[in-house]
Amino acid sequence: MRTIRSIREMRAWAGGARGRGRTIALVPTMGAFHAGHHALMRAARESHDEVVVSLFVNPAQFEDAADLAAYPRTEARDAAEAAEQGVDALFVPTAVEMYPAGFATSIAVRGLGDVLEGAHRGPAHFAGVCTVVAKLLNLVEPDTAFFGQKDAQQVAVVRRMVRDLAIPVAIEVVPTVRDADGLALSSRNVRLSAADRTRALALPRALGAAAAAAREGERDGTRLRAAAAAELAAAGVEAEYLAVVDPDTLAPLGAVERRALVALAAHVGPVRLIDNLLIEPVRIPVATP
Ligand code: AMP
Repeated sequence: MRTIRSIREMRAWAGGARGRGRTIALVPTMGAFHAGHHALMRAARESHDEVVVSLFVNPAQFEDAADLAAYPRTEARDAAEAAEQGVDALFVPTAVEMYPAGFATSIAVRGLGDVLEGAHRGPAHFAGVCTVVAKLLNLVEPDTAFFGQKDAQQVAVVRRMVRDLAIPVAIEVVPTVRDADGLALSSRNVRLSAADRTRALALPRALGAAAAAAREGERDGTRLRAAAAAELAAAGVEAEYLAVVDPDTLAPLGAVERRALVALAAHVGPVRLIDNLLIEPVRIPVATP
């Protein structure tokens, strides 16, 4: 596996691969790899000739300087893990490489980027995500970029941006990888104490409660939300937001007639966690004569 630090070398490497007729997958990450990142790398590996993983803790998407400073940085271990997953190139640019002096561009996806995470982390969050993802897509020119369902809003926002700007790339989504107890893997989980980690299990339990209610026939968005809220309240976890929305438009759903996204964020101890689940309403079979 090759480690690449400059845009010039990244472009040359990707251009060379394309010239040889090789298909290219890009997996954008902020590092501190876990099995969720590995799943994205494997999905990319299985379907493309060349796999590029970018590792960049993107300052533009952090509203909170303390959160940025506390973000885990484990490049040596990450490089070993990426190589193990069969990654061909690890792109590790510096902040100055990505945001040279005078950098002034920001890509905002209005509406989709302003709700849920955007409403709580601020509108700069998804503008930061979109600007860096657009730049990565522009310099690697992959056939496909891989994202995790764990960040469901990121998927909706990036899909919209790619469509709006006619960026020629397919977006693939990989299901959320969870620990055996249900907690969604996150680079932030290492900062949870044992007690907080137990409390954090209220998040997947809350999503499970909404899914169970939907399976039992509940279609009212408010009542599905209440089923999830009850699990959080029982564990003393206060949601920053908890919403039942359309997975593409992120508009709140009063009635769940088709696939819906239950999304939430909560602070547990020093860590802000997010999680989500796609739920399907039960189809009531229509009796045929
Ligand atoms: P991050 O390094 O946290 O920016 O994540 C890089 C990519 O990995 C994003 O597309 C995330 O959605 C994805 N990802 C993070 N955690 C998980 C997980 N538990 N399961 C699946 N994908 C994940």
